[in-house]
Amino acid sequence: MQCHRCQTEIDPEEEKEHLNQVLCEDCYMDALSPPKGCDPWAVYSAKNLEQHAGSGITLTPLQSEILRILKETGGVEPPALLQELAGKLTIPQLEREFATLRHMEKVRGERREGKIFLRLW
Ligand SMILES: [Zn+2]
Repeated sequence: MQCHRCQTEIDPEEEKEHLNQVLCEDCYMDALSPPKGCDPWAVYSAKNLEQHAGSGITLTPLQSEILRILKETGGVEPPALLQELAGKLTIPQLEREFATLRHMEKVRGERREGKIFLRLW
C-alpha cells in the first residue's frame, strides 16, 4: 500500500486512514495538525498564542510548574523534568508545553557537554 500523499510504501500496520485516504504515519500526523509548517511545535505555539492574544498570555498550572522547576534547578534534562512532574506528562506533551513556553520566551533549550538542557530564557 502506498501513502496517498507522499507515495511512500507503507507497512500494513502503519497505514492510517484519514478522510478516506490511506496515509503513512508522517502524513497522518501532518493531516491531523494543520496548518502545515516545517516546525509543528512553532505552528502549535503560534496558534496557542493567537488564542491568548488580547487577553495577555496566561500560563496553565502545568506550564507554571515547569517554570518553577527550571527556576529551582537552573536547568534540567527533559527526562529529569518529566520525573519532577511526577508522570503528569509524556515526552510529546512536554515538548508541546515547552514549545509554547519557548515561543513566549520563557524557556529555551541549551546544549551542555553534548546534552540538551531545558532552562529559563
Ligand atoms: Zn506519506
